[in-house]
Amino acid sequence: MEYTYEEAISLIKDRIDIVEIISEDVILKQKGQSYWGCCPFHGEKTPSFCVTPSKGIFHCFGCGVGGDAISFLMKIRNWDFTETIKYLADKYGIELPKFKGKSGEYAQVKDGALEASKKAVSIFQQSLFDLSEKSPIIQYLNGRDIDKNVITKYSLGLGLKEPDYLYKKLKKDFSDEILEASGLVIKGNKGYIDRFRNRVIIPIQDEKGNYVAFGARAVENGQNPKYLNSPDTVIYNKSKILYGLYTAKDAIKEKDAVIIMEGYFDVISAQAHGIENCVASCGTSLTTEHVKLLARYTKSRRIYLSFDTDVAGINATNRGAELLKNAFSGLGKIKQFDESHLAVDDDKYSCEIRVISPPKGKDPDEFIREEGSESFLNFVDNAPLLIDFQLNQFLKHKNEVKTPQQKSKLVKDIIPVLQEIQNDVVRTEYIKLVATSLNINEEALNKEVQRTLNQNFDREINVKKIVTKSENISEKAQKNILSLYLISNSPFNFEYISKKIKDVTFTNEKLIIVKNTIDKLINTVNNVRELTESLFETFSSDDDTQKLISELVVISEAFNNLSVDDFESVIRENINKLEFVKREKEQNELKELYKDVNDDEIESLKIQIHLRDQIKKQIRTGDNND
Ligand SMILES: [Zn+2]
Repeated sequence: MEYTYEEAISLIKDRIDIVEIISEDVILKQKGQSYWGCCPFHGEKTPSFCVTPSKGIFHCFGCGVGGDAISFLMKIRNWDFTETIKYLADKYGIELPKFKGKSGEYAQVKDGALEASKKAVSIFQQSLFDLSEKSPIIQYLNGRDIDKNVITKYSLGLGLKEPDYLYKKLKKDFSDEILEASGLVIKGNKGYIDRFRNRVIIPIQDEKGNYVAFGARAVENGQNPKYLNSPDTVIYNKSKILYGLYTAKDAIKEKDAVIIMEGYFDVISAQAHGIENCVASCGTSLTTEHVKLLARYTKSRRIYLSFDTDVAGINATNRGAELLKNAFSGLGKIKQFDESHLAVDDDKYSCEIRVISPPKGKDPDEFIREEGSESFLNFVDNAPLLIDFQLNQFLKHKNEVKTPQQKSKLVKDIIPVLQEIQNDVVRTEYIKLVATSLNINEEALNKEVQRTLNQNFDREINVKKIVTKSENISEKAQKNILSLYLISNSPFNFEYISKKIKDVTFTNEKLIIVKNTIDKLINTVNNVRELTESLFETFSSDDDTQKLISELVVISEAFNNLSVDDFESVIRENINKLEFVKREKEQNELKELYKDVNDDEIESLKIQIHLRDQIKKQIRTGDNND
């Protein structure tokens, strides 16, 4: 049967079981009509994440996140809407119609590029398998402990020297446009040539296991660059992909920790030796998107950095830590010490960074091959926290410090590290430790650390929002009123509700937007379920508004199965509350005015009369207020 894209989406929506979908990532327990679990979007130990199958929505009472099954998948998998629909269509065996039009062509190119990459993997691999055992490339791989099993597991391959070997093979099945879009070929003066020639090929998979890009290592001495990587393409965004994640994700979940390495072969070697929870960024710095990706797989967000440990490697670790910090800026705090004994922070992306630093001169690949995985794991178990690692980098040079000037320079370097410690008690302890170690005055060091800290603190206070109590009451009443549209077994239709609340003035900007959207949608939807779905869809790229909608749905649960009388009184009560707040505000304004004009007899008399009227009016209607 032929149907449109929209029809396919509604077929998919009919098939969706939100409990089943969310259960893939969250352990849910049924309580009455709802299912509860620990929120995957913020760290928590007691469940405040609620799934309501009758409405097809989820809501977290901890961090406020909410939405339907589709927005859950988009958030947790980092997919866009089209990707999510494609995944669900596959899952339920619903065939999506072929796209037409501009965006449709894009989707076809994307699918084609994925297919071409998959085909390329097997062509590259065959070329590698065709080599004889004596070939220098096979010898080189064997020298790195990479045997046939590892080659097969990681789909390693070989790009031949022949300039257009791959292109000729692929062009039988794919258009030039698709091959160019996949990043596999480059357009030259005399036609297309292969991007990866005379190189060992390391295919890069996304979270779903699709081949989306390639890393390629030079096989000859002096061949530059040593590593060549795919450019960003329609199917590959290097800031969102981590090498090895597809094969590591179960182990990362199980160990609740992830090890970030520098190179493809570090990851392959570690995983092949049983240390499976390793990933690497693909020839790029660590990004915020990478951190978000990892935060989804580890509840503890324990991240180990395992970079080369020669002198350059130590710099790499500091650089890595710096990158990680940058990637975290705006996302949350970095745990720099064991905070398990302190109050749990609600920060969504706060994380614990430890540094694996085996003795000098070896990258993780080399170390694991020579010393064995046991020895490496020993270093993992004893990995110092980032702060200890950083302080040690400075303190170990203390014996080389001779002059007061050198000492002062060293202290200057250490202070920023100390300032990053959030907890007062822990910071004091570290200051004591550093002061003793460098034989300097503890009080003086403390003062210097404190000075900049206070500057930061003052800034924070200034940006804090001040919300008055009456604004809260008003906002709550407005939310209650809007949630009436979303009651499952409402005795009234949308039209009736709109009529009842036509005089309500919404004052919160987001609520106004939602109300306007509801006004539009109620002309096209048949029931509450459809209204809820359409609302989530309308705001699918607006997290804050989605949160608000899921909050409204949760509020509406409280009004389920109301009698006609109760329903009317809910409306009345909330409207009264709004009027009460409005009056209170007006009176306060009048009082202020009265204070100011006290010396102007006539003006003050006028205002006094007005004020008396207001108070009288309130006494008359005041019984309705609580
Ligand atoms: Zn949450």
